[in-house]
Amino acid sequence: MLNKEELETFKKELEKMKLQIQSNLDNSSLEMNTLRDNEPKDEGDYASVERGQSLANTLMDKQVQKLAAIERSLKRIQNGTYGICEACGEKINVERLKVKVFADYCISCREVIEHEKA
Ligand SMILES: [Zn+2]
Repeated sequence: MLNKEELETFKKELEKMKLQIQSNLDNSSLEMNTLRDNEPKDEGDYASVERGQSLANTLMDKQVQKLAAIERSLKRIQNGTYGICEACGEKINVERLKVKVFADYCISCREVIEHEKA
């Protein structure tokens, strides 16, 4: 099990990431509004606005997903279940958590899940 100090470090890291993503998302919605306010003048302009918007949407989706994972991890810290794989209930390797603090699964489950998706 993780000790208190480790948990505290992970928690700080998660909270830092959360704030960063939230401010990224705020900035992105501002940019999207600016894009929308700039009326396209011709076909070319219109296409580039569309491209910009769908790229921004994809990036935002990723950030939103990451934010959700971070929040799940913070909740697990509260519940005392942080660092436990969502799929098999085994402990997630600390080295893995250091690389990916908001990991839901241990390495073997992650591989299975990614394999199923592919
Ligand atoms: Zn697992």
